[in-house]
Amino acid sequence: AQKLHLLRHNVLSFVSSRTGSDLTRRQYDVIVVGGGHAGTEAAAAAARLGAETLLITQKIMTIGALSCNPSLGGVGKGQLVREVDALDGLCGRAGDSAGVHFSILNRSKGPAVWGPRAQLDRERYRQFIQSELLSTPRLTVLEGSVDELLVSQPNPEEPGHHRVTGIRLGNLPQTSHNKLGEFWPIPPDRAGVTESVDGSHPILSSSVVLTTGTFLSGSLFMGQTTSPGGRMGDAQSCAGLSYTLKETLGLRVGRLRTGTPPRIVKESVDLSLAQLQAPDKQPTPFSFLNTHTRCKPEEQLPCYLTHTTPGVERVVRESVHLNCHIQQDAKGPRYCPSIESRVLRFPGRRHQVWLEPEGLTSDLLYPQGLSMTMPPELQLRLLREIPALHRAEIRTPGYGVQYDFVCPTQLTPSLQVKSTQGLFLAGQINGTTGYEEAAAQGLWAGVNAGRTALSLPPMALSRTQSYIGVLIDDLVGRGVTEPYRMFTSRAEFRTYLRPDNADLRLTPRGFEEVGCVTLRRYKKAVSVRDGLQEALMALQSVALSSTRWREKLGNISLSENKSTTLNGLDLLQYKDVSFEMLASAFPECLSQYFEYSQRLKIEAVYRPHCEKQSREMERIRSEESLSLPSDMDYLSLPVSLSQEVREILDRVRPNTLGAATRLPGMTPAGIIHLLNYVLRTG
Ligand code: FAD
Repeated sequence: AQKLHLLRHNVLSFVSSRTGSDLTRRQYDVIVVGGGHAGTEAAAAAARLGAETLLITQKIMTIGALSCNPSLGGVGKGQLVREVDALDGLCGRAGDSAGVHFSILNRSKGPAVWGPRAQLDRERYRQFIQSELLSTPRLTVLEGSVDELLVSQPNPEEPGHHRVTGIRLGNLPQTSHNKLGEFWPIPPDRAGVTESVDGSHPILSSSVVLTTGTFLSGSLFMGQTTSPGGRMGDAQSCAGLSYTLKETLGLRVGRLRTGTPPRIVKESVDLSLAQLQAPDKQPTPFSFLNTHTRCKPEEQLPCYLTHTTPGVERVVRESVHLNCHIQQDAKGPRYCPSIESRVLRFPGRRHQVWLEPEGLTSDLLYPQGLSMTMPPELQLRLLREIPALHRAEIRTPGYGVQYDFVCPTQLTPSLQVKSTQGLFLAGQINGTTGYEEAAAQGLWAGVNAGRTALSLPPMALSRTQSYIGVLIDDLVGRGVTEPYRMFTSRAEFRTYLRPDNADLRLTPRGFEEVGCVTLRRYKKAVSVRDGLQEALMALQSVALSSTRWREKLGNISLSENKSTTLNGLDLLQYKDVSFEMLASAFPECLSQYFEYSQRLKIEAVYRPHCEKQSREMERIRSEESLSLPSDMDYLSLPVSLSQEVREILDRVRPNTLGAATRLPGMTPAGIIHLLNYVLRTG
């Protein structure tokens, strides 16, 4: 309650600078339901686009809350954060503001698959997101719980097709600072007064984005206890919302689960028995707008690594019958499994446990790898089987959550429900797991909700252009059978979809075509693009024979003949040649580009491969009308295609290559194999 009071205080200065805003209006261009990672990006993106937007969430205090791990990014996920940032989203800058331990994962591999990651200070992250939303023009935040979607049937001859017209609020579960219909920002003359709205009164909008996370018919599990809830301390989403989705709109809904570990009192941990994991000496910001992070290099906190023991396995086995969550059918996250699943699937193994800081001033540690749902007293017994945790004290026990998700094959690539005009879904409700996946979908759903409200056509991102495109294409094309998380291996064009060039790939389009990027960011990206282009031309303009290069740069190993002429860009592809070496050999034309040295090196290394892929894409485009034989035996075609794609092709039997490319689940790599096969045999 005290923090809420402080927030209100902060809100007032904002409101006074935002004269003329109608805080009690009953119609908005876009309504976003849920203030989690998807909802905050969706609301901010729709407002950036120019749509008058209302964000409704159960508790304003939890806007920007990290439900589980205090970290952002990682392999595949870091790429998503960079792309959200390139489209002017929030999470990258929030990560730079809240990070307390930055590291690039996967450094032993090529830079295309490096994974920028940071441990976060929970409070700083939440504060950043909340203050960003507060300073976003055209965005109003309302504390409330949406109980019903209002829909109409536009055409009686199209049963099952609907159009969303708004929402109806329900009764908020009464918790310490939940008050029905409290508007935020609060008008200055109502400071300290609770604004209340008649819950049954509708709020109208032609675009609604649902981002209810783990809250839709959410149930919490700990030991043998089950209770309704979306997250510990938070009520589940109103039942009416599930009813609208399932019964009124007839959407197919599935059930998934996830869990979180106990939080441990740092002082009770013997860190001398764990292995110290230092952060990178120089933190790498997530955001293209930042040159440094809020946390100084020397202020960063370490993480620690320890391992499970046979005692851990024993406690898990002894407690299985007391653990409701693991006996449920709903699928859990395969790549972030509970300790129960790990131990039962891989008996006798030693499992890693990372002890991670929860923030700069927090007295807690987050034991990554120890998500568990057994009774609290057994959680404590389990922890104490690990030497570094032999005197551990638990502040809050681990628990599990089970929730409804909407099968995402019912969505279009703009994340709109196919059968309901104006209704968009994003985040965990679509069967994904993770903040980054939620943020990426939220941004794109917000863009399209805004565009729809402003009578602009929806837009899609292709999987050749971005990881966001890969994520959405996978969801709407293939659906999910378990919580979906991003990996670099999911992106066929990963040598092009790199974290270093997300601004060049997305920012200009975000400004020129989509409308979600501000002028400031656009100007920065254009200046970088022009600078890089100039630098690449300058590199190509310095050409020497390999013998002369060797003389100039010292003893570098070049595979080319002595007489072969190589330009600077060719040379930069060699592992032991850096831009700095070339610039010192040709200072007059290269030294002015020092600021781009790392990006130039990466560009040079991947350029030949990206050019090959781009030629292949061009081939696909030019062969769109190529006929596919009607009697083709797709199931046994001797080319590399997944079984899933073979079955789709066999069932649909597309007439042309172009028709095949548009099939859900069809990947560019699959199309290339098909094209080569037909040309070879036809
Ligand atoms: P959320 O962040 O869940 O936000 C949903 C928001 O919607 C909330 O603010 C809620 O109050 C609001 N809301 C819901 N219904 C209504 C309504 N009717 N009206 C108004 N507001 C509403 N991710 C991982 O990657 N790895 C993990 O191990 C992991 N473990 C998790 C464990 C637990 C216990 C929980 C709760 C989550 C876990 N997550 C994990 C998931 C991670 O928190 C989510 O992926 C991410 O937060 C999803 O973002 P979102 O925006 O879709 O939903």
